[in-house]
Amino acid sequence: MDFRRDPNRDAFREEVRAFLRERLPAALVGRKNGVRSERAELVQWQRILNAHGWGAPYWSSEHGGTGWTVQQRLVFDEECAAAGAPSQDNFAQKLVGPVLNHFATPRQKAEHLPPIFSGERLWCQGFSEPGSGSDLASLRTQAVRDGGHYLVNGQKIWTSYAHQADWIFLLVRTDPSVKKQAGISFLLVDMKTPGITVRPIISIDGRHHLNETFFDNVRVPMSNLVGAEGEGWKLTKFLLNNEHASAADLPTLLRMLNGLKSLARRAPAGTGSLLERHEFALRLARLEAEVRAISVLVQRVAAMEADHSPAAHAMGSILKLRGTELQQKLSEFLVESLGDHGAVACPAADGHFGAERETSRQDPLGDIASEMFYRRAATIYGGSSEIQRGIIAKMMFQF
Ligand SMILES: Cc1cc2nc3c(=O)[nH]c(=O)nc-3n(C[C@H](O)[C@H](O)[C@H](O)COP(=O)(O)OP(=O)(O)OC[C@H]3O[C@@H](n4cnc5c(N)ncnc54)[C@H](O)[C@@H]3O)c2cc1C
Repeated sequence: MDFRRDPNRDAFREEVRAFLRERLPAALVGRKNGVRSERAELVQWQRILNAHGWGAPYWSSEHGGTGWTVQQRLVFDEECAAAGAPSQDNFAQKLVGPVLNHFATPRQKAEHLPPIFSGERLWCQGFSEPGSGSDLASLRTQAVRDGGHYLVNGQKIWTSYAHQADWIFLLVRTDPSVKKQAGISFLLVDMKTPGITVRPIISIDGRHHLNETFFDNVRVPMSNLVGAEGEGWKLTKFLLNNEHASAADLPTLLRMLNGLKSLARRAPAGTGSLLERHEFALRLARLEAEVRAISVLVQRVAAMEADHSPAAHAMGSILKLRGTELQQKLSEFLVESLGDHGAVACPAADGHFGAERETSRQDPLGDIASEMFYRRAATIYGGSSEIQRGIIAKMMFQF
């Protein structure tokens, strides 16, 4: 990997800063919900980015993206985090979008890519099922051919933001008679199709991110199959590699680090601020070094992927493991830094937030505690830490 500093980096940083100064509306600054922006904010921000030609910051120019280098993408992430810009739809940008770019037919691309750029179509991921999480290939949701359609029946779970999504990318079993990986197909499904029911799951942070999604005789045109029938596992592996590498979520780490610094600057401690406390400053410096290390690892993984290095997959798992552990450490440190207020923002002993939780939605302290609880899941979603360790261990045996 080339560690030399890109000579154009400072100029690019200035370009991004100027864009953010001019185009990021004040009303969109500072996510109200620490995890993902509300739908309306996310869509408005996507439109602004797209109007500027930045609708797909992580895609190559061949696929209509910005074609930025990894260093440029990092600068973009850093500056957006520092400015408090809304999130984008990661399911579209980092998961299904790259799958469409690589495997979709020209007709599918023409139908699905423009609304991703414009923000008109938000996506969710229908992979996990009750009993099929880590062992994803055991999934049972069935798709049976019926004329020019598939008839889909089954249940997905933990479907993040399905209640806000327009479309879902779905893994289904099209052939139960072959080896489990070989009988899986990848379908694109309009969430408005009759027979789909979305039920909320309220998580430990008291919020609605998650859902159960039921499919009852849902008719999906066969033209919505991506790749060949039975080829879904190949697409899934491609998507999961991207998901592991992006789950470290550098923009989130940067946002938390900035939040921590700003809080510590303002929080009184003795005669000075919390930031002036030696022990606090030392712990903060260590965490900042870890965030910088993740940023270098992001570049390294991207360089290995570009070189088609066989170890890129395991490096993506290392990134997922370290990045999500760091999200937990940072969010816990943020709550600790609130002192007694951190305890006030916690849920009641029965884990129920109830009416008072609704009130504290307006309260940034509540948001900090709420995110700390949500991030407990970071080492589970996108493939648990144990699964990542398994991938890394297998790779160790190969070299
Ligand atoms: C907040 C959140 C958001 C999510 N969003 C989505 C989404 O949008 N779409 C979607 O499809 N899914 C989503 N998921 C599901 C997620 O991908 C699964 O929860 C995850 O893959 C783990 O599967 P599981 O929950 O079935 O746990 P299990 O697979 O049952 O695992 C239970 C425990 O056993 C361990 N374990 C399992 N297999 C092994 C093994 N081989 N070796 C060692 N240990 C093992 C696991 O690490 C874990 O600790 C989300 C999950 C969460 C928590």
